Amino acid sequence: MARTGESCTFCGRNSKDVNLLINGISGAICDDCVQQAYEIVKEQTVSKKNPLGITQKDLPKPKDIKIFLDQYVIGQDDAKRYLSVSVYNHYKRLLQRITKDDVEIEKSNIIMVGATGTGKTLLARTIAKLLQVPFAIVDATVLTEAGYVGEDIESILTRLLQASDYDVDSAQRGIVFIDEIDKIARKSDNPSITRDVSGEGVQQGLLKLLEGSIVNVPPQGGRKHPDQKMIAIDTKNILFICGGAFDGIEKKIAQRLNTRVVGYSANKEVSALDRNNLLKYITPTDLKSFGLIPEIIGRLPILTYLNPLDRSTLRNILTEPKNSIVKQYLKLFEMDGIELSFDENVYEYIVDKAMEFKLGARGLRSIVEAIMMDAMFAMPSGKTKKLHVSLEYAKEKFEKSDVSRLQTA
Ligand code: ADP
Repeated sequence: MARTGESCTFCGRNSKDVNLLINGISGAICDDCVQQAYEIVKEQTVSKKNPLGITQKDLPKPKDIKIFLDQYVIGQDDAKRYLSVSVYNHYKRLLQRITKDDVEIEKSNIIMVGATGTGKTLLARTIAKLLQVPFAIVDATVLTEAGYVGEDIESILTRLLQASDYDVDSAQRGIVFIDEIDKIARKSDNPSITRDVSGEGVQQGLLKLLEGSIVNVPPQGGRKHPDQKMIAIDTKNILFICGGAFDGIEKKIAQRLNTRVVGYSANKEVSALDRNNLLKYITPTDLKSFGLIPEIIGRLPILTYLNPLDRSTLRNILTEPKNSIVKQYLKLFEMDGIELSFDENVYEYIVDKAMEFKLGARGLRSIVEAIMMDAMFAMPSGKTKKLHVSLEYAKEKFEKSDVSRLQTA
C-alpha cells in the first residue's frame, strides 16, 4: 500500500502525476480532487435551499435594506424606499418562480431621475453590495443599433458576465445599472421619419433585455462576429436599474402641472407645489414627453427621483457615510502611521467651495484632494506623525491648487 504523501487517497494518482498533494493524518488529496469536492459541496448547499441560495427568511426586508443604504447614502429617502421595496419584491419574485403557483409577480425594473452627482450610481452600487450579486454599470450613450459605430446592446450583458467571472447562473440574477438613459431619448416627441441611430432604435433594442428574453452575448464584448462563440443569457431575472439626469424635464413637469391645475382649485394646488424641486412630481407621462418610448416606460414600472444636494447634505456626505471622503483620508494617513485631524470649519470651507463651483458631491473629493496633496506627497517619507488641518492650512493649499482655478474657468 502506498504511504501517505505518495498518492491521492481519492483518485489514486501518484504525487508525480498531480500538481499538488495535500497530506492529512491518514490520507492525502490532490488539487484536482479538492476542486471537485468543492464543486460538490457548493452544489449541495445551494440545492438544499433553492437555486437562488436563499430562502424568504434570509431576504433582507425593505426596512433593513433602507437602513443599509442609509449607512452609505445621505438623504434621498424617497428613492431609497422605492429601491428597497422593488429589490425586495424582485427577490420574492425569484423565490416565487420556485414555488410555481398561479399568480406571477412581474419584474420591477427601476428608473431613477435626478441631477448628475446626486447618488444614483451610489444607490445602485450599494444595493448590489448588500445582495452580493454581480453588478455592472453601463453607459447608455455608447450604445447604438447593430451595424452602427458604437457598442451593441448585448455588450451590457457582457459587462455583467465579466462581473460574475463568467458564471452564467449568477449573471442571470445580477443587477445592471444603465446610466444616462435620458441620452437615448427620441430627439423629438413625434416618431421621426429619418433614422434615429442612437435614440429610438437603441430603445427598441433595450426593450428585449428589459422584458426578459434569451440573448446571445459575445463573451469578450465588441461586435458580434462569426468566429466568436456566444453565451446565451436569460434576462428574465436580471434587475435593471436605469438612471438619468433628464435635463430640462422640469419644464415638461411644470407644463403638465399647470394645464392640470387650471380650474377652480388651481390656486390651492399651485401654492402647495414645491417649485424648487419639481422632479418629485414626475410621472411616466413626463418621461414620454421627454422622448422615451411608451414600451420602455412600461418596462420600467418603478419611477423615482433624487433631490438636488443642498448645503447641509453636502456637509453630511463629507463625514457621515460609512466610507465618507474624510474617513477615507483618515485611513490613508493612518496606514502611514500618521494621525490626521481637521478643524470643524475646514469642512464648512470645503462645502462652501463645492457649492461655489457648482461641483456637487463629486467636487468634494477634488477639493479635499487638492488640500491634502502636499501632505500626501511629503509625509510618508518624513518623520512627523501628526497633521492637523486648520482653516488657514486648507485655504493656503487649496488656493494654490489647480482646482481653485476652476472658479475663473
Ligand atoms: P450620479 O450617478 O447621480 O451621477 P453618483 O452616485 O455617481 O452620482 O455620485 C457621485 C459621488 O458623489 C459618489 O461617489 C458619492 O461619493 C457622492 N454622493 C453623491 N450623492 C451622495 C449621497 N446622497 N450620499 C453620499 N454620497 C453621495
